Amino acid sequence: MNPFRGVDFYQADDLLSDVERMARDTVREWVGERVVPVIDTHFEDGTFPMHLIPEMAELGLFGANLPEEYGCAGMNNVAYGLVMQELERGDSGIRSFASVQGALVMYPIYTFGTEEQKRHWLPLLARGEKIGCFGLTEPDHGSDPGGMTTTAIRKGDRYVLNGTKSWITNGTIADVAVVWAKLDGQVTGFLVENGTSGFTAPEIRHKMSLRASITSQLIFEDCAIPEENLLPGSGGLASPLRCLNQARYGIAWGTIGAAMACYHAALEYSLERIQFDRPIGGFQLVQEKLVYMLTEITKAQLLALRLGRLKDENRIEHSQTSLAKRNNCAMALEVARMARDVLGANGISLEYPVIRHMCNLEAVKTYEGTHDIHTLILGQSITGQNAFR
Ligand SMILES: Cc1cc2nc3c(=O)[nH]c(=O)nc-3n(C[C@H](O)[C@H](O)[C@H](O)COP(=O)(O)OP(=O)(O)OC[C@H]3O[C@@H](n4cnc5c(N)ncnc54)[C@H](O)[C@@H]3O)c2cc1C
Repeated sequence: MNPFRGVDFYQADDLLSDVERMARDTVREWVGERVVPVIDTHFEDGTFPMHLIPEMAELGLFGANLPEEYGCAGMNNVAYGLVMQELERGDSGIRSFASVQGALVMYPIYTFGTEEQKRHWLPLLARGEKIGCFGLTEPDHGSDPGGMTTTAIRKGDRYVLNGTKSWITNGTIADVAVVWAKLDGQVTGFLVENGTSGFTAPEIRHKMSLRASITSQLIFEDCAIPEENLLPGSGGLASPLRCLNQARYGIAWGTIGAAMACYHAALEYSLERIQFDRPIGGFQLVQEKLVYMLTEITKAQLLALRLGRLKDENRIEHSQTSLAKRNNCAMALEVARMARDVLGANGISLEYPVIRHMCNLEAVKTYEGTHDIHTLILGQSITGQNAFR
């Protein structure tokens, strides 16, 4: 395959600043050199490429849109989005790692933590010297996290946690978990360090999606943590939902990267694959698929860019993020399925990136609010009527 050069049918590059383009191109090159050559093996083996963590940190990819005073890159949100796009062009597992570390661990510490917590944790997490995870989902509470049964009870100068979290990205390899538990009935954030007595994080195996990403349970059995591990600015379900909105923003961009990888593979393949004495890209039915993919990618790019500008101007609404997450995940999954079709039997082989992206995108469509949950968020936003229950 020819090297990836991006997909930019509407010259959206013109709408980016030099700094934004540079951030994107740096990560694009790094992904091509460091992620693409190894990711199939990790996907097949069900492992995360741990050796890439220091390199990602060196590039400033963890908490990249958080301030420099805490050791972060201080990018604007458009540059941050473009970085997520390029990471997911490599693999959704790589983007998920960066999303969790930045949007779901560093962001809550930055937003709800004490100055001491911020000064301690943010530089360590930005340098990739510590890995974090975010525990909200439980075995019996996914789309409805407010029903969580994990509890924290104050005992002297400690909080004692009991409960189980499920489907937690990076859980087994994390040094610190941002855990959401009910304290006196109110959802509250806590920092639980790996090695704390009463805390275990077994890996969830046998996944057929996001295989190059570690997913775990977090189990708390009379797990006592120091009182200073509470995130004092957190309180109520709105706190974890604010974190999810940060991550959803990154997903809206990231999925464009996965879709671009699939479109690129399908286009290249359609020009090389000869059937009935001509490249299959010369057949109208194949062209129709390629045109669909390009159209949907172009629409998604413009959507994400506008969302990013609104975020940088502090004018973003959570329902706007929902619209982009919902649309771009569904778009990318459809593009991946269509690309798989264009590649015929080769479409199911890991020799090509398409089936890997397609399987990954099934999980990306579900996590951080399923497609249907974002439909309900949008429905409520436009009608004022709550259709959740
Ligand atoms: C690979 C992976 C990584 C993840 N990483 C994390 C993580 O790091 N941290 C974390 O906390 N969580 C994580 N999750 C969990 C994820 O956020 C949840 O899976 C997601 O919120 C959906 O919850 P659920 O799987 O329990 O599905 P359910 O909530 O049981 O939903 C099942 C189906 O019912 C539908 N449904 C539910 N309620 C309604 C309703 N009111 N109206 C209409 N339809 C409805 C849903 O749309 C869905 O189609 C991860 C999940 C995966 C797969």
